[in-house]
Amino acid sequence: MNNKEVKDELLSLHNDITSLISDLREINIRVNDLWNNIEIRYSRGSVEVPSQTRYDKNYTVAWDKDVYTCTCPSYKYHSGDCKHIKAVKEGDY
Ligand SMILES: [Zn+2]
Repeated sequence: MNNKEVKDELLSLHNDITSLISDLREINIRVNDLWNNIEIRYSRGSVEVPSQTRYDKNYTVAWDKDVYTCTCPSYKYHSGDCKHIKAVKEGDY
């Protein structure tokens, strides 16, 4: 190998490495997107909780990270967690 060939070989290797780094960056961005998507999916949810006073009635407790809401009158008219939210937080549902 003469000097010119060594130089060309090094340049070619350099280009390959630059291209690989670019691919890795793209993969990293896609992994981060998927990770965020999974986090959002699992940090939000809802569950039906039966009314303790009416057999035929269910209330929906929903959460987004640590913010809980309920569809019952108690949650609507009083501040703080109703008994359904408390039950969900305690792992009863
Ligand atoms: Zn409630």
